[in-house]
Amino acid sequence: MDDEEFRRRGKEMIDYIADYLKHISERRVTPEVEPGYLRPMLPKNAPEKSETWDNIMADVERAIMPGITHWQHPRFHAYFPAGNSYPSILGEMLSAGLGIVGFSWAASPACTELETIMLDWIGRMMALPVGFLPFDPVRDDKDSDDDDDEEESCSESEVEIKANNSHDSVMNGETHRESKQSRHIGGGVLLGSASECILVAMLAARTKKITSKRLADPLMEDGQILARLVCYTSKLAHSCVEKAGLIAMVRVRQLAVDEHFSLRGKTLEECIRADKEKGLIPFLVSGTLGTTSCCSYDNLEEIGEICRREKLWFHVDGAYAGSALICEEYRYIMKGLHYADSFNTNPNKWLLMNFDCSCFWVRDKFALINAMSVDPLYLQHKHAQKAVDYRHWGVALSRRFRSLKLWFTIRSYGIDGLRYYIREHCRLAKVFALLICADSRFEIIGDVTLGLVCFRLKGSNKLSQKLLLSLNDSGLIHMVPSMVNDIYIIRFAVCAKYANDDDMHMAFNTIQEHANDVLAEYCA
Ligand code: PLP
Repeated sequence: MDDEEFRRRGKEMIDYIADYLKHISERRVTPEVEPGYLRPMLPKNAPEKSETWDNIMADVERAIMPGITHWQHPRFHAYFPAGNSYPSILGEMLSAGLGIVGFSWAASPACTELETIMLDWIGRMMALPVGFLPFDPVRDDKDSDDDDDEEESCSESEVEIKANNSHDSVMNGETHRESKQSRHIGGGVLLGSASECILVAMLAARTKKITSKRLADPLMEDGQILARLVCYTSKLAHSCVEKAGLIAMVRVRQLAVDEHFSLRGKTLEECIRADKEKGLIPFLVSGTLGTTSCCSYDNLEEIGEICRREKLWFHVDGAYAGSALICEEYRYIMKGLHYADSFNTNPNKWLLMNFDCSCFWVRDKFALINAMSVDPLYLQHKHAQKAVDYRHWGVALSRRFRSLKLWFTIRSYGIDGLRYYIREHCRLAKVFALLICADSRFEIIGDVTLGLVCFRLKGSNKLSQKLLLSLNDSGLIHMVPSMVNDIYIIRFAVCAKYANDDDMHMAFNTIQEHANDVLAEYCA
């Protein structure tokens, strides 16, 4: 393909995508294919000779589209939203076109610097504790006279973090500026998934605990310490916490939640005490801000206090719900986040960014660097002392220019536009919840705080199981189930970018029709 053909085919591809999204509601939500459907449709071997673009595109319709689950479909209500927007798609396109690999600052300075700035923008949009944001000379390097103003302009959580951070800085012998700068050793990075963020947090926490234990008792070997480490999370935490434990070779305790599906301090405290009595070493708690199962919230304040007291790394996973923090009225959910050592959220879920785009902030970037730095000669560069090298902040070396899509999307929508999108989804979830409540055969489980409604048919779990099977088999709508405290629930997530009231009514009507059949069969 030469330049001219690229121009032509690129424009055709944009048309193809725009047409696909415009007419998506005419399709079934889920495909009707069986595993292995694609192999007989494609040649066994790769082609020896070049093929025409028209032939390849014809095969997209013939072979690929029949196997697509249409995540952008207005009747797709499974999992959580898969972020998508035209500015984000175009940002991805530019990233692919530039074709850079940004593992270090020198490998492409704009890639690193835009990423740092975007994480800072989003951190401020969400009013995250200032400990997660890098040192900002404009904000932080002021005369002490200005400090009072600064306190006033901070959010409540920022003020708290300052109070809580005071133990981090050694005031004696430092200039005021140095002490302020030393308090800002936090920052953010873009990783490929929430799972990766949680794994990275776990690896950093693991190294930190092993190092401190080894310092306290030089006779202890790393392997002996590792074998005794324990991470705590709730039964409703995403399975990626358990997976991170498998990879990091540490125990993960999945603790019970209360009647609001929230992990409470008392439960955690008792388990920590029992483990310490057995000679085990607690090192990490992974709390959730918006569980996948039912969008419940762990009690970050109670957990955070225990983590601070017990010197445990506190990670908070806000993969979905984190995006809501851009709206002031939802910030109550992050009460206690000022205790966290790290936090992740996925703009590729609920902030109109295409996959992949996971934001990960840490209070102490050196905890990551200590756990993940290797430094071969071919990766070194002369600005390493001054610049950020994100290869030390995660597992991967090569890194995509992910921040471009953030930059395009945030600027195109403005924070106001993004807030409107989040608020609409939350409003529509309430519309759907009211419809469910008006039908006495259904019940809602958990609170409807954001864009997720968890409901079920009253009665045995089997009834709701049958209902969901029937709905998903129809291809008219797609939802997934979950289990909370032994209750089978159907999760209804508002996902489509332009979801509206009619979509809520159509979804509810479909659910009602299938419920009629399921209940008729059950009563017969
Ligand atoms: N954490 C929560 C709360 C989630 O809802 C999810 C996925 O839905 C994850 C983690 C895992 O996300 P990822 O697919 O980005 O690893």
